Amino acid sequence: MSRPTSIHVNLERLRENFRSARRLHGGALLAVVKANAYGHGAVVCARALAPQAEGFAVATLEEGAELRTAGITQPIVLLEGIFSSTDLGQVQHQALTAVLHQPWQVQLLLGQAVPPAGGFWLKFDSGMHRLGLDASELRWAVDQLRRKFPGVTFTVMTHFAHADGVNPGALDPALTLFRQAIQGLSVRTSLANSGAILGYPEARGDWGRAGLMLYCLDPAAPGQPVRAGLRPVMSLRSRIMVERWIKPGDSVGYGGLFQARRPVRIGVIPCGYADGYPRTAPQGTWVSAGEEDFVPLAGRVSMDMLTVDLTDAPRVTVGTEVELWGDRVSVSTLAHCCGTLAYELVCGVQRAARCTVG
Ligand SMILES: *Cc1c(COP(=O)(O)O)cnc(C)c1O
Repeated sequence: MSRPTSIHVNLERLRENFRSARRLHGGALLAVVKANAYGHGAVVCARALAPQAEGFAVATLEEGAELRTAGITQPIVLLEGIFSSTDLGQVQHQALTAVLHQPWQVQLLLGQAVPPAGGFWLKFDSGMHRLGLDASELRWAVDQLRRKFPGVTFTVMTHFAHADGVNPGALDPALTLFRQAIQGLSVRTSLANSGAILGYPEARGDWGRAGLMLYCLDPAAPGQPVRAGLRPVMSLRSRIMVERWIKPGDSVGYGGLFQARRPVRIGVIPCGYADGYPRTAPQGTWVSAGEEDFVPLAGRVSMDMLTVDLTDAPRVTVGTEVELWGDRVSVSTLAHCCGTLAYELVCGVQRAARCTVG
């Protein structure tokens, strides 16, 4: 067999998750496909969602251009905006909608002859204090741009620092600030990322911005997307390539981290941290094997391989398919055990072959 390690992306599940996200949020929904659709493949995911998504969101100009080249015709919101006036030419050429979050960007747009294709998207800083206009800059921007380009639509967005539910109630002041800032402006709104869509019905607006939840990844609270009926989209799979018995006292892998206390049947899986499996996974982390078994990680994860203890799973042998994460091993739970976020794991799959279904 050739190296059996692969990433499976289930596009039917992605579409279902999108429908669920929209049912929860109502109104229109941007599918956030930045960072190569959180590692799932921006072009395949955007194409799969194109019949239903009202728009897409990306972080960078290059990501937006990639979608246009792939034939995506919906609005594409550039969440990080432009870095210089030269970016603006590209934005116009690709008909992207760059979020305006600094006064100089508003000035630049005021100097243009034609308004942007998707109307204006302005970002209000509700407390994250990274990007965004303050309340008076926002009023000034809407006022000036409206005067110059009458009839063009405005969307005011904000991004919450506390939508992940870790700190309940912390979102409320940001929401109040946002409402005050847009009072009387007659603009559309865009507030909610996945955390807010799942956990804060009061923070919904005209446009939702769903990222993590489309891929069934936890914004914070473990299990939240699954409880909302979402299903995993990505799985990382491989097969047992070699098995061997080791004696009591023998160890496995770098540093001898796992030491056998009985005769142990070790299985070698050709998947390591270069494939995206976390090196920090603790001893005993479950790997799903075959239809019904789970086998524990034994020994340090190396770059190209990892080892598991097959002693108590006699059905599992060379050639048995294993799932490192996916349906039976939740990527969010795995990430949690490794002290990171599922987002980091799914974005780290670079080397594994890709297989798309649905
Ligand atoms: C990434 C991003 C989102 C999507 O957030 P999720 O938590 O992945 O749903 C929404 N809005 C902005 C501004 C973002 O940068």
